[in-house]
Amino acid sequence: MSKIAFIGLGNMGRPMASNLLKAGKELSVFDISADAVASLVQLGAKAAPSAEACVKEADVVISMLPSSPHVMDLYVSKAKILQHIKAKTLVIDCSTIAPATARTVSAAASERGLEMVDAPVSGGTAGAAAATLTFIVGGTQEAFNKAEPLLKLMGKNIFHAGESGAGQVAKICNNMLLAIHMIGTSEAINLGVKNGIDPKILCEIMSKSSGRNWSLETYNPLPGLMPNVPASRNFEGGFAVDLMAKDLGLANEAAETTHTKTPLGTLALALYKEHSKAGAGRLDFSSIIKFLDS
Ligand code: NAD
Repeated sequence: MSKIAFIGLGNMGRPMASNLLKAGKELSVFDISADAVASLVQLGAKAAPSAEACVKEADVVISMLPSSPHVMDLYVSKAKILQHIKAKTLVIDCSTIAPATARTVSAAASERGLEMVDAPVSGGTAGAAAATLTFIVGGTQEAFNKAEPLLKLMGKNIFHAGESGAGQVAKICNNMLLAIHMIGTSEAINLGVKNGIDPKILCEIMSKSSGRNWSLETYNPLPGLMPNVPASRNFEGGFAVDLMAKDLGLANEAAETTHTKTPLGTLALALYKEHSKAGAGRLDFSSIIKFLDS
């Protein structure tokens, strides 16, 4: 049976790794947080003392880290795990990072004879827990074909977006749109409430009307309206405001580099940065509804 090394066991990595364990895979895990590691050991994973030790015996390496510098540090500049991974091992980075960083790390992997794909995800923590994530993969067709069966154990829709970095390009376009419709949905709900309509009735009407969208129907930002969403647990345990600001920053960079007009994306970035500055950086991004109401 192939051995999997899983690095980065946060809000997303933890449920993703547990689904691999549930599918009977042998997992070696590492995270800089001992608590995160302990939660996976309870489910049957083997704790590695370092990133290097985690990948040494692996046939597949999966990482799920916050941002570009974390991925560069892990693979290339600090922990330099590319040097410790066996030849021909498949490397899958599921973090959302800059397309250019994904291409740089993938090229470094390739120099060592390793196949690497960028495979950022969509679907949130609930999708990670239910193994219904969408994976957006960038890399060669051969590497995609190898990664797909494994990704299917953690997700439902697996897309091959194109060559290395293409997964990240598609992901940042998606998240720019997500931020915009989360802000729009929050604005509409706040406006309705301030003008005297029951928000439950308003959301039901908009869900069956032309304003319908994922933020409204699946990840509603109004506390108490929907069970099992971050808004109904004090905006904890979801997709952090700081991570959304990071993705909007990546979208902004991509827009500037290619002279693309994205005025709403730029405004969304400014609003999420301000929300973070006010102390909400670790809360779920749907908490923007509170920021707009303050
Ligand atoms: P998180 O902050 O909850 O988890 C990141 C984990 O990485 C933490 O446990 C941290 O301790 C660990 N880590 C950091 N540096 C490390 C290192 N050098 N070695 C080992 N472990 C290290 O973040 P998350 O919400 O799980 O998000 C992870 C990635 O997935 C991000 O790129 C994010 O943009 C993306 N994403 C998140 C969601 C979501 O809903 N949370 C949805 C889609 C995509």
